[in-house]
Amino acid sequence: MLIYNTLTKKKEEFIPKNSPNVTMYVCGPTIYDYFHIGNARSFVMSDIVRRYLEYKNFDVKFVMNLTDVDDKLIKKANEENVPVEQVAEKYADAFFEDIEKLGIKKATVYPKATEHMQDIVDLIKNLVDTDYAYNVDGNVFYNVNKFKGYGKLSGKNIDDLESGARIEINEEKKNPLDFSLWKKAKPNEPAWESPWGKGRPGWHIECSAMSMKHLGETIDIHAGGNDLIFPHHENEIAQSEACCTNEFVKYWIHFGFLNLNQEKMSKSLGNFFTAREILKEHSANSIRYLFSQTHYSGPLNFSKELLESSEKGLEKIYNLVQRIENIKPSMADNLNTFENERYLFAFESAMDDNFNTPQALASIYDFIRDFNKFLNKNDQVAKNDIIKAKDFLTKTLTDVLGIVLFSTEEKGESKEDDLIKLLIEIRQKAKLDKNYSLADEIRNKLSELGITLADSKEGTTYKISK
Ligand code: AMP
Ligand code: ZN
Repeated sequence: MLIYNTLTKKKEEFIPKNSPNVTMYVCGPTIYDYFHIGNARSFVMSDIVRRYLEYKNFDVKFVMNLTDVDDKLIKKANEENVPVEQVAEKYADAFFEDIEKLGIKKATVYPKATEHMQDIVDLIKNLVDTDYAYNVDGNVFYNVNKFKGYGKLSGKNIDDLESGARIEINEEKKNPLDFSLWKKAKPNEPAWESPWGKGRPGWHIECSAMSMKHLGETIDIHAGGNDLIFPHHENEIAQSEACCTNEFVKYWIHFGFLNLNQEKMSKSLGNFFTAREILKEHSANSIRYLFSQTHYSGPLNFSKELLESSEKGLEKIYNLVQRIENIKPSMADNLNTFENERYLFAFESAMDDNFNTPQALASIYDFIRDFNKFLNKNDQVAKNDIIKAKDFLTKTLTDVLGIVLFSTEEKGESKEDDLIKLLIEIRQKAKLDKNYSLADEIRNKLSELGITLADSKEGTTYKISK
């Protein structure tokens, strides 16, 4: 299996340090707002990488950090006049809700910066003790000139960076490229004790400390969007390799930008749709299908029209699923059989080649076209062929790409349940707004349909009489 490694700029055979175990770290969100559909692309593509590794029987330990203290969180807390923790909690909850809706598998751990202060301080202390970092009056900076490999990930060198620096001049720094490891406390900002006085950590050091804590000194895969290559990931390497290891990461994976009108979607430019607003009108399936149609490393120019056309493409798949679910298998002998091994082989070959999802989808389209033809030609179909077709679609589209096709009744979840939960939520809101007539109407209409609600202090439960 080949993975393109940003560090070596080559596709390389994937050989984890301790196969079949794989350690994977993905830079997660700063929880000061809802995440946008651009962030969602990086989260979904890292989920597909993980799902495919699991499909190949690797045992993946997957860590995604949440940045819960930084300038943006502090600014938001000041604007809303609430504590920083309250902002972090609100948007962490929203993050978990949204990734669940997107069908993203849960990480093994979601470490938060504020829960790792001691690890962060210990790591900075190590860097100060070995002169890779210096303290100026309570602000600690990393000394980039001291680290020989600085620039190796981004392909930048220190001299070019310095001459083209847009980096603000800071009298305290030895080199304008030096970056903050510890920021001295300012009034009314959250702060923690440290050997350099009260303060808070810089962003880059969080990831070095938390990846080491949960995954060890050398990790197999580290992923994030292209915007993180420099300076964030470059700085993570400088920190981790100065402190602890010759090789911080074996394979660096970077996701291309999701753009809007050819421009990177970002909060700061204001050109964004939140994932939750898109999810109100479109299914997770269509979002994941759209993302899979483009290779993870290239740009994806997003539009709602594109999402709608991706929904049309999905219909072909749904139609075949429906056809398969409606077939009554035949017990007759001597039936024609459908060989589907070659489609799975083509799918795996594409995914083995640096997670080439558009190519992988092509093998699925081939299967759909040929299996439909087979069904058109044969009035009777053997049970085994139906099982194999279902199995192919489930393995490729659901297990790997996260597109859910066949009903999940066995798990007790259905669209019906989702709709009832939605109505319960609306009724709850109506009660809070003192709109009791609407609340009662929802209860009564549901009751007419044989769905009984029961309120208790834990919340509302429901029962469906069949
Ligand atoms: P942030 O909360 O901005 O740190 O971003 C969280 C993740 O989303 C990081 O991996 C970013 O690289 C990624 N990301 C941010 N903007 C985009 C975009 N427009 N397209 C793809 N990934 C993005
Ligand atoms: Zn990071």
